[in-house]
Amino acid sequence: MSQGVPADGGPTDFDIPNPYVLLRRAGLRPKKGLGQHFLVERAHLARIVEAADIGADDTVLEIGPGLGVLTGALASLAARVVAVEIDGALAEIIEETLGDRPNLEVIVADILERPAADFAGFAPDSVGARMASPEARRVEPDSEGARESSPKSWQVVPEFKIVANLPFYITSAVLRHVLEAPIKPSSAVVMVQREVADRMIAKPGRLSILGVAVQFYARPTRICIVPAGAFVPAPAVDSAVVRLDVHPCPPIPVRDEAVFFRVVRAGFGQKRKQLRNSIAAGLDITPADSASALDSAGIDPRRRAETLALAEWAALTKALEGVGFGLET
Ligand code: SAM
Repeated sequence: MSQGVPADGGPTDFDIPNPYVLLRRAGLRPKKGLGQHFLVERAHLARIVEAADIGADDTVLEIGPGLGVLTGALASLAARVVAVEIDGALAEIIEETLGDRPNLEVIVADILERPAADFAGFAPDSVGARMASPEARRVEPDSEGARESSPKSWQVVPEFKIVANLPFYITSAVLRHVLEAPIKPSSAVVMVQREVADRMIAKPGRLSILGVAVQFYARPTRICIVPAGAFVPAPAVDSAVVRLDVHPCPPIPVRDEAVFFRVVRAGFGQKRKQLRNSIAAGLDITPADSASALDSAGIDPRRRAETLALAEWAALTKALEGVGFGLET
């Protein structure tokens, strides 16, 4: 089923077996409830692997390896690959086909069960030691207003990378799980529904809670669109591959992430309303108090949530904190 990419001897230069043949041999069928749509086009496989930019020292966590089509390619580039698959029957197929790779560990588990860094073997202590060592790569804040150094709850491990063709039913949960965790990968290349990708990369004017959350933690870049026909069985909609470069520290000054996101959720709670009203309703304060906080943050109270840039959400949070409106933790 390889298509469109000439043989080059690279990590994705292999024939992709028909998933139905592999599954039938094991007496299985794709489980829709687990989002099992298997990638069968080598061109897109190659784009994902290329976008992941795997180095020989990297540990890659693959979420939902399925029949292992990406797994083998990743294992030929990385120091280690940890593949977490919820379906034990598929994990057995990977063991049969890729079991000879000494740098591959397949774990049968729900990815949401434990922090991603735990699965990849980056326990808090080992990361702390690595960050403190003189060899540790120094990461500097990349934009104005960011903190001097990463806070304890925000540690990015340069050699920890995530690659996943995500099951649609838990896309947002997995993104939150990976990005909100204290120990973060330096990058994640994820395949998501095309419409979700659009929301992840949206600019002010079209932002949603998902866009604000993703961009608070990472810089998203859309790599390519993947048509539904590139999967077996084909899903109902097209997908897109997005690369997330995780910020080395918060890109905007935020005292408390939980409070920041409470303000953001309040703003988007009644999306069609002016911010003056949605903030008031979401935080249980008067529209007059809401308008005065918006004013002091330099934001026109008649604007709508989707138009605010991240720095404006931070300024609004600060203004609300300043007057103690509904934000006690
Ligand atoms: N990586 C394969 C590919 O590209 O062909 C399969 C991708 S398929 C869209 C999603 C995979 O995630 C399935 O193999 C499914 O069983 C697995 N999966 C679903 N929910 C999961 C969870 N909570 N934790 C880990 N894996 C999960």
